Amino acid sequence: MKYYNTLIFELSKSGRIGYSFPKNPYAKKSLDTLLPKELLRSEEAALPEVSELDIVRHYTNVSQKNFGVETGFYPLGSCTMKYNPKINEEMAGLPGFTEIHPLQPLSTLQGVLRIYDETARMLSDISGLAEFTLNPFAGAHGELTGLMIMKAYHEKRNDLKRTKVIVPDSAHGTNPASATVAGFETIVIASTADGRVNLESLKAALSDEIAGIMLTNPNTLGLFERDIVEIARLVHQAGGLLYYDGANLNALLGQVRPGDMGFDIMHINLHKTFSTPHGGGGPGSGPVGVAKALVEFLPNPRIVKHSDYYTIEDSGKAIGQISHFYGNFLNVVRAYTFLLTLGKENLKSVGGLAVLNANYVKESLKDVYELPIGSFCMHEFVFNGLKNKSTDVHTLDIAKRLLDYGVHAPTIYFPMLFEQSIMIEPTEVESKETLDHFIAMMRQVAQEALDNPEMVKTAPHTTPVRRLDEVTAARTPILTYKDATRHG
Ligand SMILES: *Cc1c(COP(=O)(O)O)cnc(C)c1O
Repeated sequence: MKYYNTLIFELSKSGRIGYSFPKNPYAKKSLDTLLPKELLRSEEAALPEVSELDIVRHYTNVSQKNFGVETGFYPLGSCTMKYNPKINEEMAGLPGFTEIHPLQPLSTLQGVLRIYDETARMLSDISGLAEFTLNPFAGAHGELTGLMIMKAYHEKRNDLKRTKVIVPDSAHGTNPASATVAGFETIVIASTADGRVNLESLKAALSDEIAGIMLTNPNTLGLFERDIVEIARLVHQAGGLLYYDGANLNALLGQVRPGDMGFDIMHINLHKTFSTPHGGGGPGSGPVGVAKALVEFLPNPRIVKHSDYYTIEDSGKAIGQISHFYGNFLNVVRAYTFLLTLGKENLKSVGGLAVLNANYVKESLKDVYELPIGSFCMHEFVFNGLKNKSTDVHTLDIAKRLLDYGVHAPTIYFPMLFEQSIMIEPTEVESKETLDHFIAMMRQVAQEALDNPEMVKTAPHTTPVRRLDEVTAARTPILTYKDATRHG
C-alpha cells in the first residue's frame, strides 16, 4: 500500500541503487574537455535513490491509476477511442524507422518516403481528394492548414472580399477557433430541429464575402447531412469552398467519399480513425487533402515521386511550411500498418460495425435516457441526460458514477445544442458483451439516480482520486513537485 499515492522522491533512501550501467566511456575527465566549464554541474543532481524493485513497483502502480482503452470501455464521443493494434507499435519500433534523421541523404530514406507517399495515396483513395500532405501534427493543425489553403485560393484569384467562413452550431469547437486563427470571421448558422444544416439559413448566409463552409458529415450529432449535394451546389455557386472536418471518418470508410460529396479540402485524424495513439494533445497526425485545383497550395516540403525515386521539393505557390520536416512519421507508419493489415475489403466493415454498435447502444438505452433526435445514427449519438427529469442527478454525475463501474465517461456537455448532452461513440472494435455490460451499467446508474441520488452525486467512490475541484485546479495549478525533505 505504501506505493499508492507516493512520489518516487519520497521513497528515496541515501545510497540505494536501482541501476547497473556499463562503465561510462565518457569519464569525468573527458567530459571536462568535451563540454564548456560553465555547462558542467557543480553539485550532484538531487535524484531519488531507490532500488530497482521500488522503481518498478512505483511506475507499475502509477500506470494502473490511469484509464485507457486497454483498461476498459472508452465511449468518448467525437474522439474515436478505438484500440490501437500492437502490430502498429511493432512496425513503428523497427530500428529502420526509429534510428533515422530527416537530414540524412535522401538515397538512404527512400523507404520512409515511400511510406509517406503510399499512405497519402491511400487517404486519397478513401476520401476522393486529389492529393494529401501528411505534415500537420493534429486535427486542429490540419484545419488551420486547410483554411490557409482556402485563403490562398481566393487571394490568387484576387477575390479579397471573402473574409467569412460559415460554421454550423453543431460543429466541433476547433472549427471556429481555426477559422479565427486563419484570419476569418465565423458566421454560425443554426441547425434544424432534426439536427442538420438548415438550407434556408445557409442560403441567407451566403454572399460574395463567404470564403467557404466547414462541415462534417456525419455531423457531430452522428447524423448524415442528406442535403449535402445541394449544400455543395449552393456554396460553390456562391464562389465558396467546402471544408470537410474528417477527424472522425469511421462511419464513411469504404462507403462514401467526401470528395464525391463535393468537398474541396479536408483533414483526417490518424489518431482517431486510423488507430494511432491520441497521446494527450500530441503527437497526433492530421493529414490534409485537397481537390485538384488546390494542389498547388499544399504546404512545403513536399515528397515527390519520380518513377521509382522520391525527392523533397518546395513550391513557390505553397502556403509555406507548417511543420518541421514532414510530420509525425511514426504515426504515419502506424496508420500505414493499420491500412495494410485491414485491406480495402475489411476497411469497409469498419464503418458498418461502428454504425451498428452505436445504434445498438442507442436503441438499448433510449427508454431511460432522453434521445432528443431519434433517427438512425452513424458512428455516434447524443442523449440529453436522464429521461426521468424528476431527480437532480445530471450528466456530470452520471459520467462520474460510470467511473466506479470501470467505464470511461462519454463526452459530456458537448455538443452544446442540448443542456445535458451525453455523447456516446462505441467504435467498431468492441464486442457485443462489452456493449451489453456498458448498457447494463448505464441502466444501473439511471436506477441509482432514482433510488439513491446522493450516492450518484458524490461519485466516483472507487477511483484513486475522487471528484475533483476543476475550477481550483485550473485557477491555482500546482505544476512542480517540491520536496520538503531535501535541500534546495
Ligand atoms: C478531435 C476533433 C477535432 C480536433 O482534432 P485534434 O487532433 O484534437 O486537434 C476536430 N474536429 C472534430 C470533429 C474532432 O472530433
